[in-house]
Amino acid sequence: MTSTSTAFDVDAFGRRHIGTTPRDHEWMLAALGYDTLDALMDAAVPSAIRMHEVLDSAIPDAATEREALAELRALADANTVRTSMIGLGYSGTITPAVIQRNVLENPSWYTAYTPYQPEISQGRLEALINFQTMVTDLTGLDTANASMLDEGTAVVEGMLLARRASKAKTNRFVVDADALPQTHALLVSRAEAVGVELVVADLDETTDVAELGDHFGLFVQYPGASGRVWDPASVIAASKAQGALAVVAADLLALALITSPGELGADVAVGTSQRFGVPMGFGGPHAGYMAVRKGLERQLPGRLVGVSQDAAGHAAYRLSLQAREQHIRREKATSNICTAQVLLAVMASMYAVYHGPRGIRHIATRAAGHARLLAGWLEDAGLELVHDAYFDTIRVRVPGTAAEVVDRARELGIHLWQADDSTVQVAVDETTTASDLHTVARAFGGPDSRDFGWVAPLPTALPETLRRTTPYLEHPVFNTHQSETQMMRYLKTLADRDYALDRGMIPLGSCTMKLNAATEMQAVTWPEFANLHPFAPEADVVGSLGLVEQLESWLAEVTGYDTVSLQPNAGSQGELAGLLAIRGYHLANGDIERDVCLIPSSAHGTNAASAVLAGMRVVVVACDELGNVDLDDLRAKIAANAEHIAALMITYPSTHGVYEHDVKDITRAVHDAGGQVYIDGANLNALLGFARFGDVGGDVSHLNLHKTFCIPHGGGGPGVGPVAAKAHLAPFLPGHPMAQRTSHAGGVEHGGGPVSAAPYGSPSILPISWAYVRMMGAEGLKQATATAVLAANYVATRLRDHFPVLYTGENGLVAHECILDLRPLTAETGVTVDDVAKRLIDYGFHAPTMSFPVAGTLMVEPTESEDLAELDRFVEAMIQIRAEADAVGRGEWPAEDNPLRGAPHTAESVIAGEWTHPYTREQAVYPVHSLVRNKYWAPVRRIDQAYGDRNLVCACPPIEAFA
Ligand SMILES: *Cc1c(COP(=O)(O)O)cnc(C)c1O
Repeated sequence: MTSTSTAFDVDAFGRRHIGTTPRDHEWMLAALGYDTLDALMDAAVPSAIRMHEVLDSAIPDAATEREALAELRALADANTVRTSMIGLGYSGTITPAVIQRNVLENPSWYTAYTPYQPEISQGRLEALINFQTMVTDLTGLDTANASMLDEGTAVVEGMLLARRASKAKTNRFVVDADALPQTHALLVSRAEAVGVELVVADLDETTDVAELGDHFGLFVQYPGASGRVWDPASVIAASKAQGALAVVAADLLALALITSPGELGADVAVGTSQRFGVPMGFGGPHAGYMAVRKGLERQLPGRLVGVSQDAAGHAAYRLSLQAREQHIRREKATSNICTAQVLLAVMASMYAVYHGPRGIRHIATRAAGHARLLAGWLEDAGLELVHDAYFDTIRVRVPGTAAEVVDRARELGIHLWQADDSTVQVAVDETTTASDLHTVARAFGGPDSRDFGWVAPLPTALPETLRRTTPYLEHPVFNTHQSETQMMRYLKTLADRDYALDRGMIPLGSCTMKLNAATEMQAVTWPEFANLHPFAPEADVVGSLGLVEQLESWLAEVTGYDTVSLQPNAGSQGELAGLLAIRGYHLANGDIERDVCLIPSSAHGTNAASAVLAGMRVVVVACDELGNVDLDDLRAKIAANAEHIAALMITYPSTHGVYEHDVKDITRAVHDAGGQVYIDGANLNALLGFARFGDVGGDVSHLNLHKTFCIPHGGGGPGVGPVAAKAHLAPFLPGHPMAQRTSHAGGVEHGGGPVSAAPYGSPSILPISWAYVRMMGAEGLKQATATAVLAANYVATRLRDHFPVLYTGENGLVAHECILDLRPLTAETGVTVDDVAKRLIDYGFHAPTMSFPVAGTLMVEPTESEDLAELDRFVEAMIQIRAEADAVGRGEWPAEDNPLRGAPHTAESVIAGEWTHPYTREQAVYPVHSLVRNKYWAPVRRIDQAYGDRNLVCACPPIEAFA
């Protein structure tokens, strides 16, 4: 039979991205009672918000995968990769190939979700506890978290932690004048919003701390931005004596050789792990870190991995303490960080596993030795160094000729840093070669070649008094996997313990776990994108800037806004950037009293946490029984705070997964009261191509490129959370002192303070979203939205008779996700939402989102990328689980001993000893026959959450714990 379909295109990416076929759609639509996808969307999306024209030509027609890669290649070729010796928190590094191939380029690692379901996340949780152990060892502190967004924001979080924990009654924070310039800029903009006064001070061993006045915290950069290494112990002690906490930003590689912050008296250490094998990537993503001394662990922002035990008493990893803290604590959360930098933390930890303590020490010694060697020659040539004691960075006086030296070096292929007209800075790293040192020497006016006389071991220029004497990375994990075969197998072993998108669907509501296509991922590791320093000169990064500009304009187009900033490196940071823009706008208008942020009770927890960080007061607006914002309560809250309304933060479609038709009334009411409207765009996958935030009354939104636009979740990050806004907010969107360009999409300048350490946030992963838009085209994006909505409604319809669907909108339809209400089931049978989530593991699934936004429910978001067979497999598993629960309800199985309560079942649990349960072993592990050939085995049984919080262990346990 010949195909009559002319629509079939063998090269079209869209039909690879969308999992269901046109024929599947007919079947699914029939189940819903609609003839066409258009008819379904007409019925689902309220006509009041519907956009009827196709997206403007700003979005080019869909390219094939080959065409998109060719265009990306042209953009890459427009960049010029020179050797960066700029330093300032970003160093050249060698990603061990075994880590690049088996982690960064391996979907088992990059497509996983944040490990909220610990039983199916033991691999990445182990990698993260290795990260935490590496950080606590090197910093000499007690507890580290599983990554921060970058170094600059980690310092800000350190400042906020110091303010929470300090008893000093003052709002003053002392900042080292030798801080990284981007860190300084971040501190300035973030401190201002929350009423902290910064006191910048030249710190050294002779500083009289009493002269600095009272302060709740002290910040030291160690080594300094200028490369200087000095001993801050006495300054730290004096500062702490007057009630402050000491926050030290430390270079992890330097700590291999110099005294740790913990030994110097620091309460908090922060920094980046970038130079542990993570490419600079023009600024990110990289994993920042934070470690604290004992007693402060409950103040730590972000995720903390700990050790607990499972139902069989075996040691098992899980997220500790504040695992979902914004969701629970909202405006009282310790920070707004949700998505962090897990994939990059995994890479950095594996770099330490691969090299071990001897390798790390060697790499550090070699870099310090090379810096000393270069310095010695420059001194011989009559040049003067600014500091005598340094690790890998030297500062050289070149009266009046700094620009010339930097230009000469650039012509010779190396970027140096011009600190001022008469000072040039050179940072050595792991990649620096003898030839690089020769070239730098020539740039400073030396002869064409010179024999440096390599000596081993190379002497360093570190002060004797700061020599590190304490050991690190002694745990066996850092001393075992150092052949490539062992490393490859360790990575495979860990990956096999986890459930990621390469095994099956991850139907997490609000998280949009769609395909992260291989073609989209390809350019991430191209050296032209990966090996750029974020402060490289504009002329050398025009390809990346072009990509940024195109993506910004496409995102502005699809959201109906005038301009976009790609700087925020997570959704939460986009929220903060948007709220800071609103704050800046009101202040510029003289509206200093506008500080109330209205937030519906159903909002994502980060919303309230971000509002607090933007210096706003949160006022909660009720939701009605349909899950919509209660308009009467909104009007009442507006009236009660009349002159103080700064903003409303609303999620659209709502976190209940429905399109509210009142959204325009809501936004009008806020505007009438003089407030601005923030629309949380995390649910854009339900709207793209059908409605635009800018058209329904939004002033500003963030998007989650790691949801709607295909950046993989990486097991809990990276993410990109661009902020999109109307033109009147542009002057207050995040700028950056080192940005190569100040103009952005829409031809406007962004004049606010930065929210990320790097000017363009995490640019090395932007080719992913760029490729997605480029390969889908406007029509494909629209098709994806419609298919996602179809899939959610199909699941809702098929499951409705088994689990009530909590909220629906127009015509009984949901948007791109649906909430299954398990509370009636729990009331009837005692089976909890936890039991169902864990039982899904036995059936080979990742659970949907649990108890958000409503306790006792599961929120299912299938996305457009799943095929019909996988959707049906999920539906059938849920129906069978319902039947199992009913059997418990009827008393066929006891409430405490049934396949649900016993889930997940490990292989050991069904073969060890005598089987005493009232259900069979087959029912336990093969409830569906297809599992016999295709089984994901959870490595641990259900994990005891409370035990882990009572007995906090957040570093690698001794290997006997797993014996
Ligand atoms: C995911 C999400 C966020 C936060 O995004 P992160 O990137 O995790 O910081 C905010 N709001 C909603 C509705 C979300 O689903």
